[in-house]
Amino acid sequence: MRPSDLDPSFISHAPGYWTHEEMSRWSDYKWQLRNRVDSLNELESRLRLSDVERAGVLLAGNKLAMSITPHFFNLIDPEDPDCPIRRQVIPRLEEGWNAPEELSDPCGEDSHMPVPGLVHRYPDRVLFLVTDRCASYCRYCTRSRVVSGVGEQHLETQWEAAFRYLERTPQVRDVLLSGGDPLLFPDDRLDRILTRLRSIPHIQFVRIGSRIPIFLPQRITPELCEMLRKHHPLFISIHTNHPRELTTEVRDALGRLADAGIPLGNQSVLLRGVNDSVEIQKALVHKLLMCRVRPYYLYQCDLINGSSHLRTPVSEGVEIIEGLRGHTTGYAIPQFVIDGPGGGGKIPINPNYMVESVPGKVTLRNFEGKIFEYPDPSMIPTEVRRSLEEQAFTAAP
Ligand code: SF4
Repeated sequence: MRPSDLDPSFISHAPGYWTHEEMSRWSDYKWQLRNRVDSLNELESRLRLSDVERAGVLLAGNKLAMSITPHFFNLIDPEDPDCPIRRQVIPRLEEGWNAPEELSDPCGEDSHMPVPGLVHRYPDRVLFLVTDRCASYCRYCTRSRVVSGVGEQHLETQWEAAFRYLERTPQVRDVLLSGGDPLLFPDDRLDRILTRLRSIPHIQFVRIGSRIPIFLPQRITPELCEMLRKHHPLFISIHTNHPRELTTEVRDALGRLADAGIPLGNQSVLLRGVNDSVEIQKALVHKLLMCRVRPYYLYQCDLINGSSHLRTPVSEGVEIIEGLRGHTTGYAIPQFVIDGPGGGGKIPINPNYMVESVPGKVTLRNFEGKIFEYPDPSMIPTEVRRSLEEQAFTAAP
């Protein structure tokens, strides 16, 4: 861990691996997309790879593509072979091994699709997979079976059928746009999708899941924010795993979204060697609050094929929550969840603060380990209530 990762200040890492001439285009998101690091040659021209990484890059071409924006690439520490940023985006040989418990669709999304591209697992909300592309690709992506377009499946969203399904399904009040990353769409296309959803009276609000503010903060333009604010109530869930990801550019991009009135939450994935310590998680959640983002979920890494090298024991997630609860602001504490394999949905996992429960009393443990007894409220006995009613009636003028 670099001591600077625990520093609450925000810094820019530009120009980093790029030249000062290239900096003139740095804030142009289209330039960032065109200049993504997406080949072994390009990667090796900027960074010394280990044998394990080199083999991983060669494997990635038919599993989950490698692609890293210059902005995010700059966060990689070239001197640190265990850099928490490179572990998230540079493929490794271990991705080629599937543990027996791993699955290509760990959340059982494909079996809950009434229309291709639309996952309807909970009664009142749907997940709308609108694209299979992202600005950069996370090596632990839950949807790596479709994301990036080189895996075993292809996303074939049926747009019109999906909209018609939503129109004739009044119990759906909440639509989450995800993929892939919906904020990669041009403004006018995203505007049309949101307008169509907004035309359905029973859809009360829309959420967008996006890692663009982290991978490509330049995409959060004033024009995009102006368009998004027409579609309130609109929430955005970002995806940040490590405090180094919260740079000055990211903070400013998140500020523009917050100024457009968009409530922001963060979803992190607990990853071995990336953010599996209380210190790093605490630094992350504190910086998120400074960016006006509420830490929302901390996910146990899904059982996605080829991800065992990044997964941590469940007990580590519980220890992290225990290390935060009571030790920092309540707003800073995410809910630790496991997505039930095969489609069980998010299951909250909490440290056990209730030591014992017997009739009339619960025994509790606080964040310092001190024990407290709380008398469980009992019902007022009927005869006492009647006597109180009689007294009140007698006393009435
Ligand atoms: S940004 Fe999201 S959808 Fe894209 S690769 Fe990362 S986890 Fe998967």
